[in-house]
Amino acid sequence: MMRRVSPAALSGASALSFGIPRRTTITQQRWNSKSSPSIEIPTLSFLSDKNCLLETVDGTVEACEALLNAIPKAKSFREKHDLLDSTSNVLCLLLDPCEFVRQMHPDEAYKRNATHAFQRGHEYMCEVNARRSLYDVLVELASPQARKELSDEENKNVAQLKRDMEGNGIHLPDAERKVITEMNVEKEELAMRFLMDQESRNPFGTLRNLIQCRYDLARKLGFESYAEQQLRGTMLENQQKVWHFLCGVTHKYRAAAEREAQLVMKYQGEVRNRSGLTDDNRAKICTSLRRDAEPEKAIEYFSVANCVRGIQCLCSEVFGVKLEQVPFAKDELFHRDAKKFLVYDEEKQFLGVIVLDMFARPTKLCQAGHLTVQLGCRPHTKVLKQVGLDLPERQYPVVVLTCNAGSDGALQQRPDGSMDDEMILMKPHEVVTCFHEFGHALHTIFGQTKVQNLAGTRGSIDFVETFSQLFEQFLTSHDFLKLWAHRINTREPISFDMVMKRNEVANMFYHLDTMDQVCLAAVDQTLHGPQPLAVYFPHGDKGHVGKRTLGDMKEYGRGMFNLAKLVMEITAPITVLTPTEGGALRTLSFEHLSTYPAGYYGYLYSLEVARRIWKKKFEHDPLNRAAGRELVDKVLRHGAACHPVELLSQYLGDDLDEIDVWG
Ligand SMILES: [Zn+2]
Repeated sequence: MMRRVSPAALSGASALSFGIPRRTTITQQRWNSKSSPSIEIPTLSFLSDKNCLLETVDGTVEACEALLNAIPKAKSFREKHDLLDSTSNVLCLLLDPCEFVRQMHPDEAYKRNATHAFQRGHEYMCEVNARRSLYDVLVELASPQARKELSDEENKNVAQLKRDMEGNGIHLPDAERKVITEMNVEKEELAMRFLMDQESRNPFGTLRNLIQCRYDLARKLGFESYAEQQLRGTMLENQQKVWHFLCGVTHKYRAAAEREAQLVMKYQGEVRNRSGLTDDNRAKICTSLRRDAEPEKAIEYFSVANCVRGIQCLCSEVFGVKLEQVPFAKDELFHRDAKKFLVYDEEKQFLGVIVLDMFARPTKLCQAGHLTVQLGCRPHTKVLKQVGLDLPERQYPVVVLTCNAGSDGALQQRPDGSMDDEMILMKPHEVVTCFHEFGHALHTIFGQTKVQNLAGTRGSIDFVETFSQLFEQFLTSHDFLKLWAHRINTREPISFDMVMKRNEVANMFYHLDTMDQVCLAAVDQTLHGPQPLAVYFPHGDKGHVGKRTLGDMKEYGRGMFNLAKLVMEITAPITVLTPTEGGALRTLSFEHLSTYPAGYYGYLYSLEVARRIWKKKFEHDPLNRAAGRELVDKVLRHGAACHPVELLSQYLGDDLDEIDVWG
């Protein structure tokens, strides 16, 4: 999942989301392979031929149909559940590799075929999701009688699947359902168009239509707003709690943000008072102040090869996990600079596969991210066998970490044409992104559940972004960095002073940056909230909350400056800067409005939790094997098959409702 946007990157699309909620690796031959009862190490053999995935589509659809047809004959609730979960897994084992090939493969023919295979698989999935008979099965599985028979994990899965199907109006009479389906299609198209319009001068017409469409859809489904619909199943659950959190953070950080604003103002020569510091030029000034303060030569400690060693170090020192590099088999090779690692735990038990693809390439659609090729779960072999499918007892995860090192063109090659990873350097934000995405990758590796649909990072943003942001924190520790951040050529380890200086630079405008994030989250909540639109903000110093009502969407006219005016009104009671039209329009073009509607607060929320974990469990002794073990055992290994609020409060020994008063 992409990182939150930094103020400097507000106007540019920094990363693409790979928004498919499904993941995957199957080829026809894998179905029939005689698996040893012990371990079947997954492969990327779907890369052996450009037609491979396309040729798997028919077999996959056939297998899914056989599974679904077996449901009416199933003898128990559990068997019905297992048939459903198996269908989801089998489909993902097609769709996820397709998405990986589409995003990453350098060969156009591969990409084209994978896209085609994906479309066919996806169409089938949508058709299945619209089957009323399937919804009836979920209703049956959600009955009190069935709930008693199913495990917590299975019940959670049923609730989630049922909710997703209801989002398509499946439970409504046919005529209403038809309208909902059409609106859902329109909503998806508008969201795509908004992303594609990013480069154009005015994507705001599309944004307005998208927001209105989402609102109308939610109302038709019986919700007060689209945010209400979207927030079900998240840690904070509803808008009231989200606004409470945002107001709490504003209250906590505002004074410090004002002090940082004073500092920035000193450099904004022409204006003398604070009301003159605009959101528009604040990012520019901060970026240049940061660049000037960055310790000279610091970048020379962060070659691509070093960062990979850093990842290995984090794995071994904190999590007792070994990444063993192995060559790709001939039929798995997709790019000469990608690397394959087998992951083993302390007892040398195999855990999964991680592929690292660190360098920028024009053919990469996903510049920096984590793609799941296959989730870790326990396939329901009994029901699968009934329909002639032979999957291993245990399905191990396969994840791909992609970065865009050398995106500025500085790609030094060795004489044989391969990238010289010892000499190609990563910029500070690229190193942070790399560790962030690796946090997601490791969550997928540890989060091996029984149910496929709840494995790894398939939880809400306010939960899953916790661990990626926790992994970023390790980059502030000298004890950790000195192990692998060694200067190119001389191999001298990074000094304590340089690490402190880097931290200082990264935190120069920490509170101001946080307030930017609060503003983005507030805009996201207001635009997706009930109409008339409203914004909430801290009022006085006693923790009271004020409300400002802003009117209906249509009262703001159709032009883009009307939309900018609306954003300025939303941010005015929160920001410590002076909102401008330019700044407001930049805020509106951030792609999360398309990809994670009403979810942007999740980055801020999970960051607060991540910082708490760091402070309580790691900061005093980052390379602490016991703390790593505790994090895995108590949290990561549950994937998304847990109740995140309970889980994190128990792990931290804190009440998460007090997040705004944590130090
Ligand atoms: Zn992320």
